[in-house]
Amino acid sequence: MALTINEDKCARCGVCEPECPNEAVFQTEDAYVIDSSLCTECKERYGEPLCESVCPNNSIEKIKDTLYKKCLSIFS
Ligand code: SF4
Ligand code: SF4
Repeated sequence: MALTINEDKCARCGVCEPECPNEAVFQTEDAYVIDSSLCTECKERYGEPLCESVCPNNSIEKIKDTLYKKCLSIFS
């Protein structure tokens, strides 16, 4: 499982990027994104996602939660 950044909630402050031990967080022209192929949820060393713990806007979410919310928005 990996994490993803909710663009609607992200303030593009950049706090999360240097926290990632796997360099999975990076900035594109207009957003911060997480490369899911590099994200390990920090489980191997820290036990909790570091990027999520520093984000001031709670805009980093587990992908399954994001998919669940998307399903709800489609079918409700
Ligand atoms: S959970 Fe950890 S590995 Fe994944 S993007 Fe965040 S800081 Fe990087
Ligand atoms: S710390 Fe949170 S609000 Fe700031 S760039 Fe990262 S995801 Fe966006």
